[in-house]
Amino acid sequence: MKRSVTELRGVGAAKAQALLENCAIETIGDLLYYFPRRYLDRTVTETTLLKTGEEVTLVVNVGSVYLAHGRKSRLVANCRTLNGEALSLVWFRGVQYLRRLVEKDTTLVVSGKLDFFSGMQMVHPDFELLDPEDEEGLTHVGRIVPLYPSGEALKKHGLDSRGFRRLMALALDIENPEVPQLVPEALRKKHGLYDRLRALRQIHYPDDAESLAEARRTLKYEELYLFNILMYHKSLVRERIPRRVTPLPFGSSQEFEGLKSQLPFELTKDQKRTIEEIVTECRGEHSEAYLLQGDVGSGKTVVALSIALHYMEAGVQAAIIAPTEVLARQHYRTVADLLGLEYANRLELLTGQRGKKKDRELKLERIASGEAALVIGTHSLIEPTVVFHQLGLVIIDEQHRFGVEQRETIREKGVNPDTIAMTATPIPRTLCLSEFADLKLATLKEKPAGRKPIKTMWLRESRRAAMYKSVHKHVSAGRQCFIVYPMIAESEKVDLKAATAAFEELDGVVFPDFRVELLHGKMKPPDKERVMTDFRLGKTQILVTTSVIEVGVDVPNATVMVIEHAERFGISQLHQLRGRVGRGTEESFCVLMSEAENEEAVERLEALVNSEDGFYLAEVDLKIRGPGQLLGLKQHGLPGFRIADLVHDRKLTELSYADARENPEIGPEAREFIRKQFEQGIIIFPN
Ligand code: ADP
Ligand code: MG
Repeated sequence: MKRSVTELRGVGAAKAQALLENCAIETIGDLLYYFPRRYLDRTVTETTLLKTGEEVTLVVNVGSVYLAHGRKSRLVANCRTLNGEALSLVWFRGVQYLRRLVEKDTTLVVSGKLDFFSGMQMVHPDFELLDPEDEEGLTHVGRIVPLYPSGEALKKHGLDSRGFRRLMALALDIENPEVPQLVPEALRKKHGLYDRLRALRQIHYPDDAESLAEARRTLKYEELYLFNILMYHKSLVRERIPRRVTPLPFGSSQEFEGLKSQLPFELTKDQKRTIEEIVTECRGEHSEAYLLQGDVGSGKTVVALSIALHYMEAGVQAAIIAPTEVLARQHYRTVADLLGLEYANRLELLTGQRGKKKDRELKLERIASGEAALVIGTHSLIEPTVVFHQLGLVIIDEQHRFGVEQRETIREKGVNPDTIAMTATPIPRTLCLSEFADLKLATLKEKPAGRKPIKTMWLRESRRAAMYKSVHKHVSAGRQCFIVYPMIAESEKVDLKAATAAFEELDGVVFPDFRVELLHGKMKPPDKERVMTDFRLGKTQILVTTSVIEVGVDVPNATVMVIEHAERFGISQLHQLRGRVGRGTEESFCVLMSEAENEEAVERLEALVNSEDGFYLAEVDLKIRGPGQLLGLKQHGLPGFRIADLVHDRKLTELSYADARENPEIGPEAREFIRKQFEQGIIIFPN
């Protein structure tokens, strides 16, 4: 049996309930894992002379105590420091209560700011009675004092920092507080870690700054190690899913050879290597799950298609699912162009667009019969009416746009299919090691040949006229331009109005001699399609749009991008947007229009101006925002780290990763710890 917190003195039913509801604390073990939010250094100050204005902690002997009645009554305790200097302690509040605590001839540890008022004094000091018999008596001052997360609901039950400190002292004091070692002895030795009880003691009651740091290092390591064990076991579970369908061996697909000979370019080394690696691995005993990361414009689509051909030629279906209609259509068109006419009836496009009922039924039939070998679509592929004949490969484009369940559902439509989740938001190494540890990783680093750098600049409003002039020049020279307005759900109506108004002005006043069109997410699909087609064909020169074009859109002749209110976009979003230009052979430009003053926004914009490297930008993003928001992971919940931090504790993350792989066996207590702490919030990828 786990010992309940109610075993601690002073914890009754109500307090226990408050602990459970607000902090999920049930047992004494849980309580000890409720870590301080921060600390105050209240170690006794070594002073020779008291000086006004200083924050100090002192041991004092109380000489006399009296109540002074003036305009406001106050309690005054005249004391002497250990150096023999006089110090008065003064309280204006809680006088009646305090006079019973602070008595003549007691010894106190007091903390506060010194000031001078007819003598040295301290007003409303924090203090603790020092019982000369009791060495452990220093709970609230005279040491490094922990501050605990609390709130009204907890404070009502006396659970402020003081209350927690008292509880922790009691919990650490009882016999057998049930804190078994979770990290194997050998690893603790190897890294010079504290044993668990000592670490817990020091995190709540640090002897000094150094032991506190060591305790934190120990507990961080423990957390990361156990998390990595969990991820390792998850990858083993995946490895146990047997393969049911197999692609052709690499090198024997006629269709892949055919594709290569028809491509208007040569595949990069990275692309070739990735295709070979994934196809080869996907012929093993177990079904595979890959994360294919490659910066914007690195050419993931053709890689996905090449791999898919190895399945299709083996008589197995493949599906590509994309987060937006525009993108799904573009993939369909790209694939249809690349594969040529003879392939037309083996492709199918399924989107949410409501066409004729009969058409849709026909499509579904072709998918169910297997006649459609490659199915490209949006979320609508997930609907229950969509049934495959034999789906062996699922490709998820812009994977972070999909929820865990959606990815899982599409996978379930197949026969233990392999999955390739593609992302253009490069995932920093520490996150790869942990969050995505159960996926195999393939990376396209190299950019396709002939790409010119994108010149990025940040302009303020005063340069608007010059900016328009420059856009005019490029468009007159035959190039095309995107002008992007922010649009977010929270202020959608206002944003849409702003974008529409801007469009009208751009169309009628600023660029009357060009064709300007508007594209936004609220338009009907056929209208969107028409606008996109006209832009792709070069009939439209300037496309005013919102972040609907953020992902995937590919128009090589578009070389200028203007992003309005750039401060409202995140780094990765800006980087993705910018990736819409620089796709052809002409020099490209990206203009960030912003009046930003705020430090974070300035940092973001400057990062964009200075770098085109998606990996670097992702690291900057991670630093500014923390891992929770990156990749939109927040919605899906990051695992509940209490003390470790994947960004700041990079070294420990890497150490513990290697250790977990080498020492994957853990005991039942560690298992339970993992279950409690991580299993709820974790991201589980399609296995
Ligand atoms: P992303 O990785 O961002 O999805 P895409 O697959 O959309 O990138 O590819 C971007 C553009 O690069 C497309 O126009 C595509 O045809 C082109 N492309 C892909 N691979 C190569 C290559 N090896 N050489 C030249 N262009 C390429
Ligand atoms: Mg793409």
